[in-house]
Amino acid sequence: MQLEERYGLFIGGEWVEPRSGEYQPTVSPATEEPLAEVAYGGAEDVDFAVGAAREAFSNGWSSLPGSERAKYIFRIARVLQERSREFAVLESLDGGKPIRESRDVDVPLAAAHFFYYAGWADKLEYAFPNRRPQPVGVAAQIIPWNFPLLMLAWKVAPALATGNTVVLKPAETTPLTALLFCDVLRQAGLPPGVVNIVTGDGRAGAELVKHPDVDKVAFTGSTEVGKAIQRAIAGTNKKLTLELGGKAANVIFDDAALDQAVEGIVNGIYFNQGHVCCAGSRLLVQESIYEPVIAKLKRRMGTLRVGDPLDKNTDVGAINSKEQLDRIQELVAAGEAEGAEIYQPPCRLPEKGWFFAPTVFTNVAQSYRIAQEEIFGPVLSVLTFRTPEEAVEKANNTAYGLSAGIWTEKGSRILYMASRLRAGVVWGNTFNRFDPASPFGGFKESGFGREGGLQGLEPYLDFEGKPESFGG
Ligand code: NAP
Ligand code: MG
Repeated sequence: MQLEERYGLFIGGEWVEPRSGEYQPTVSPATEEPLAEVAYGGAEDVDFAVGAAREAFSNGWSSLPGSERAKYIFRIARVLQERSREFAVLESLDGGKPIRESRDVDVPLAAAHFFYYAGWADKLEYAFPNRRPQPVGVAAQIIPWNFPLLMLAWKVAPALATGNTVVLKPAETTPLTALLFCDVLRQAGLPPGVVNIVTGDGRAGAELVKHPDVDKVAFTGSTEVGKAIQRAIAGTNKKLTLELGGKAANVIFDDAALDQAVEGIVNGIYFNQGHVCCAGSRLLVQESIYEPVIAKLKRRMGTLRVGDPLDKNTDVGAINSKEQLDRIQELVAAGEAEGAEIYQPPCRLPEKGWFFAPTVFTNVAQSYRIAQEEIFGPVLSVLTFRTPEEAVEKANNTAYGLSAGIWTEKGSRILYMASRLRAGVVWGNTFNRFDPASPFGGFKESGFGREGGLQGLEPYLDFEGKPESFGG
């Protein structure tokens, strides 16, 4: 894998110097060492990128037959597969996630997303019969740092399949795979200006969403910034989808296969250091099996290896940034102060870099901050329940509603729970499973709109003479 010393902005199919003149380093969270310098786009850069996207939209991309667009998207998917090792290493270097996860989850799923949406590009008339789907125009897409390449794929693939053009802003701490992706776009021969990448911080994101020539905003990130974006574009015609935070309940019934459930709990909260919007961060255990579940969980936590993200035996990598580590530490201190009981398995953390041991809190009351707020780290809060009704009530007792998990032997109980849980995704006897054919998105403060599946096409389309059914 070759890194440049310095990256400009990718606009109109070319690397350009930022008009802002600003560059900042992106660092490896596992070593705190700088990896490369990255341009920080400003208002003028955003304007330039939106102009390039508009030109590409008007000069051919939007009127290209779907079967032709599909060829480009298939090519992107294939090149991603061919270069998967390179992408996996870069994702782990820049973001701190274990190489096993970037290799086996992030990169293959990103490619799968492009394959899936390539298949829809020439079938939009069948996906929305009698509704005459039309592309919306220029899409502004803003993504977070927890799944940098995968979130890019979730955003770019449906936008291209539906005939839109894109300006994407990666997160400040993880721009490198998006920049390597520009090389993939060139290899795939995508016409200039169809996808533009403007790196930078929240300022570039704020300029992008309010740009008057942007028709559609797709945002994944915190609820706080999601609300700010909604305010910023209120009163305009821009379409909006928001994929925001979560505080998912993972509900374990007494008839569940306990060893499998414990694997699901571990995967639910320690996958990607818990930097997962749909993480199973609240464990709800039926009272009668509380003791064995917690004993098994603590034993299993002792086998997790925390350390170098590039070591393929690592289970828990680095925390993405110093700011995120501070936030985790603050919330963990609040949990202890409020009276919860903390457990961390004995494990030696690397001396350099930002790391946090897998943590579980028992004796948690529903009112505690660690039961209410999104920690976005490897920290689990355990609550108990007696009846299914009580489980539903507790699981829904949150401002969020992104995902949930149910562990039970009874299929009927999974259906009973799933129909009562106010969550966009409900997993049965599994957790954190993703498939491009399956829609993903939130209820309540977890946002609105869906990504993935047929539903994920709709926010990128206008329909002639018909009211829209989704996505604002
Ligand atoms: P964030 O602070 O909201 O940032 C997300 C993106 O928005 C970043 O690219 C950020 O740039 C940019 N941004 C910041 N301020 C902005 C503004 N005023 N206008 C426009 N864009 C702005 O979130 P984060 O801390 O990076 O990510 C963690 C959050 O994302 C968690 O709450 C998590 O639950 C959520 N998330 C949700 C999903 C989902 O699908 N629902 C998926 C993944 C993550 P900078 O990086 O430069 O700040
Ligand atoms: Mg970084």
